[in-house]
Amino acid sequence: MSLNANLEKLSNACGVTGREEDVRNLLIKLMKPYVDEIVVDRLENVIAIKKGKKSKPKIMLAAHMDEVGLMVKTVTKEGFLQFAKMGGIDDRILLAQKVLIHTSKGPLPGIIGSKPPHIQKEEERKKIVTYDKLFIDIGAENRKDAAKMGVKVGDAVSFDVKYAKIGKDVVTGKAFDDRAGCAVIIETLKQLESTECTVCAVGTVQEEVGLRGAATATFGVDPDIGIALDVTIAGDVPGVSEFDTSLKMGKGPALTVADSGLITHPKVLRLLLDTAEENKMAYQLETGLPGTTDAARMSLTRQGVPSGTVSIATRYIHSPVGMLSLKDIENCAKLTASAIQKIQKTF
Ligand SMILES: [Zn+2]
Repeated sequence: MSLNANLEKLSNACGVTGREEDVRNLLIKLMKPYVDEIVVDRLENVIAIKKGKKSKPKIMLAAHMDEVGLMVKTVTKEGFLQFAKMGGIDDRILLAQKVLIHTSKGPLPGIIGSKPPHIQKEEERKKIVTYDKLFIDIGAENRKDAAKMGVKVGDAVSFDVKYAKIGKDVVTGKAFDDRAGCAVIIETLKQLESTECTVCAVGTVQEEVGLRGAATATFGVDPDIGIALDVTIAGDVPGVSEFDTSLKMGKGPALTVADSGLITHPKVLRLLLDTAEENKMAYQLETGLPGTTDAARMSLTRQGVPSGTVSIATRYIHSPVGMLSLKDIENCAKLTASAIQKIQKTF
């Protein structure tokens, strides 16, 4: 299936942190044609293994399956749902969003409401409405009615946004963080016909709340090298200075030199840079950005795993809808696959 079709499926699937099942099932289906074996570990990371001619070096690719979202915290007497945030979400983007509550009876639509601005006092209107003052309206009459609709405390809530292709290569959708990385993994596997080394492609759980899945997956896989495929902040919009970030959408894979959790292992950075240069591929370097990826956790597992990150510069991450270029996904996969072929010679 094409990259566009895969990303559409991955983006539209829902997998709020800790509730990754639908994304995992989809990812298993999409990776299956290209690997020898698929296992799911106890924390429910999925590990797809492409056996090489040798078992070493073993390369772990990681993309997280979870997305930022909400969780039902309280159902009020009047039937409104108050919520907790799962992962880093800016309170300012929540108001008036369409959402889906994932109940045991299936997904239920709702909208995020607040006290109407018309009746707010002048002072109130200037302030950001924080998430604890917001609520999800599902049109229920009261708490009992909400229960009848299937809602329970602890239900996951995702943004109700559908994928769209809006330009030749430009697409919009939810959860590109990190379904774009999952799409890179699939494209990379497609390009690896036969490998000397063994590749373990991992879809991790609970990244957005502290790289948790990567901890157990990396321990189990015990790789020699780790590469995380993730998104990063594109700064090519008004109001962002080059010092803030110089990364641009559509300008090639972003290679992390250092972020808040990882200093890319010099050998891994060299490998990625040499691969890009030998293949005459455009790339961008990033450093000093807040946030980190599964590579940070991989690098500190067992006695340490030389790790790095290949990212897609994406606009509006951690909001209900992001924007990216499919070309960047293609090029991230090309770079990753070429680097894997090169590892065979250098490591
Ligand atoms: Zn991410």
